[in-house]
Amino acid sequence: MAPEHDDVALACAVSGDGRLRSGAALKFFHGPMGAGKSTLALQIDHNHARQGRVGLVVTRLDRAGPGWISSRIGLGRAAEEITDETDLRELVRDRWADGGRVDYVICDEVHFYTEAHVEQLAELVDGSDVDVYAFGLATDFRTRMFPAAKRLFELSDELVRLQVEVLCWCGRPGLLNARVEDGVVSREGAQFVVGDTDDAVETPLTPAEPAEIRYQVLCRRHHRAGDLGPTANLAGQLRLV
Ligand SMILES: [Zn+2]
Repeated sequence: MAPEHDDVALACAVSGDGRLRSGAALKFFHGPMGAGKSTLALQIDHNHARQGRVGLVVTRLDRAGPGWISSRIGLGRAAEEITDETDLRELVRDRWADGGRVDYVICDEVHFYTEAHVEQLAELVDGSDVDVYAFGLATDFRTRMFPAAKRLFELSDELVRLQVEVLCWCGRPGLLNARVEDGVVSREGAQFVVGDTDDAVETPLTPAEPAEIRYQVLCRRHHRAGDLGPTANLAGQLRLV
């Protein structure tokens, strides 16, 4: 038996329930804002918990505030807030050390994680047989990949583009998240500025940012054109999903 197999078996024994199933997996569910990512995260957690499995639920910079996963259709639950310094492997091992179980990890807002976090998640899957379900945006407002999302594309066992229809104002599928500053589609700036889709006025993460910032999902054509459509000032379209 190859050494890595010994390691897996040992890690499973350490995890406490003797699991060595068909193999854990790292799954990345991605889609634009309003695609139902957080809703699905909560649903998957619920489904696993019903089967007696125990999960660790983590998030970062949820729009509802630290330590909470919120979905746009009103569901929510407490979650562990992580930072750059968090080692997700240690988070799981600490639970085990305290006598708890962790069969799976749910990671919401994963685009805010670091590449190191993604490496840690892959190690949890491979070394400890813990299932990981990651949810987040693939691309930022410039249509460039978030570093963590890119790493997840490279490492995940399964990539799932969420199919819940999010439409651009023109009716085409909404693919890209536009950052709208003072009514204009923004092309440059900090990658992480937390805003929401419901209100025209948001508080940016960085206090130095003076503009009114919101986000709107657009098709590629209208993202490229910077065309927010005839109801540009309403920004209410995402309330549908
Ligand atoms: Zn469009």
